[in-house]
Amino acid sequence: MKLPSIRRTAPPAPSAAGCPELVAAADSAEATAQGGQECQDCRAVGEQTWAHLRMCLTCGHVACCDSSPHRHATAHHHDSGHPVMRSFEPGESWRWCYVHAQLG
Ligand SMILES: [Zn+2]
Ligand SMILES: [Zn+2]
Repeated sequence: MKLPSIRRTAPPAPSAAGCPELVAAADSAEATAQGGQECQDCRAVGEQTWAHLRMCLTCGHVACCDSSPHRHATAHHHDSGHPVMRSFEPGESWRWCYVHAQLG
């Protein structure tokens, strides 16, 4: 059986230009972090450990990353629809758009 030939196109270069959420997040003043250096959602369920923290640029919600047991940052995106989180780790300033799964 012969497989149909599929024309491959190069994937778009990763850049904030294709992601309106990241552009908007870069232009707007950053939200103030709510709750300090811990995941409030983990505290609420009695979880003491998480890997890294992310902060929602829309509302300042601080939550744990996808390497943590509860993945509260992703859960916050699903609950709220807020599109962009940034790293809340010292020395890290990258942003992540959940809508386009894109770094910015
Ligand atoms: Zn958490
Ligand atoms: Zn939010």
